[in-house]
Amino acid sequence: MAFQTYSARLVRSAPLNDLTKHLDFEIQGVPRFGFVPGQWLSVKHILPDGEELTRAYSIASPPSENGRVAFCVNRVQDGLMSNFLCEMKDGEELRCQGPFGNFILHPPMRDTIFIATGTGIAPIRSMLHWVLSDESRHQGKQLWLVFGNRTEKDIYYHDGFVHLAAHHLNFHYQPTLSRGGPKWGGLRGYVQEHVPSIAGDRKDMHAYICGLAKMVKTNRDLMYSLGWDSKSVLSERYD
Ligand SMILES: Cc1cc2nc3c(=O)[nH]c(=O)nc-3n(C[C@H](O)[C@H](O)[C@H](O)COP(=O)(O)OP(=O)(O)OC[C@H]3O[C@@H](n4cnc5c(N)ncnc54)[C@H](O)[C@@H]3O)c2cc1C
Repeated sequence: MAFQTYSARLVRSAPLNDLTKHLDFEIQGVPRFGFVPGQWLSVKHILPDGEELTRAYSIASPPSENGRVAFCVNRVQDGLMSNFLCEMKDGEELRCQGPFGNFILHPPMRDTIFIATGTGIAPIRSMLHWVLSDESRHQGKQLWLVFGNRTEKDIYYHDGFVHLAAHHLNFHYQPTLSRGGPKWGGLRGYVQEHVPSIAGDRKDMHAYICGLAKMVKTNRDLMYSLGWDSKSVLSERYD
């Protein structure tokens, strides 16, 4: 099956820390680019030797009227695509296909724990902004975000999540640092250390987990050890 290829023009980029960028793209030639929060795009780039690279990037923004999609891209050392994306200038274009993926909110809406580390926040940011923007979507369910990073400067979109939590009493934002400085007043350690106290002995919730495979496996195994069934645990692995 042939998928449609789109051109996406970079309209804004902003550093999130030394290695990571938020990139806003405008999909060209369509009035409104449809996708479901949590999905990803397949990005293409031709190297100087003619080889075509293809990599997946989660859409970090909620669906919008202006046809824009955001990526949250971490520069991987010697990584071909991540460095190409982070060096793009405003106005430059890339080719992509999609949207793809089934890491999306599964109805019916339940109380939910979102677990992310690093750029694994991208699809979860899209889901949270979308679901919290309309009461009929979240239905007052309790939503927790356990977002793990190393240090204070690594917490992408911190102000946005603080703002969301201030405006939605059912959204509980729990940034967690493994190497927080002495002034850090939030949670410390690894994300999986904080999930049991949220879940308690409940098994009627959903968990959405995104990040590198090791973290995803650790948290999936944890949910199973707490007695959750596999249909209640949705995940996306980046490696
Ligand atoms: C569904 C999906 C969604 C994704 N969404 C995002 C996203 O939103 N943001 C994002 O930054 N990445 C995301 N990724 C990862 C992305 O697709 C690339 O794998 C990553 O950017 C590295 O590609 P590269 O071409 O720069 O590195 P490559 O040239 O492929 O690899 C260079 C070196 O880095 C290592 N490496 C590869 N990937 C990673 C990694 N993720 N972390 C650490 N080391 C790695 C390789 O083993 C290799 O040694 C996603 C992956 C999947 C499968």
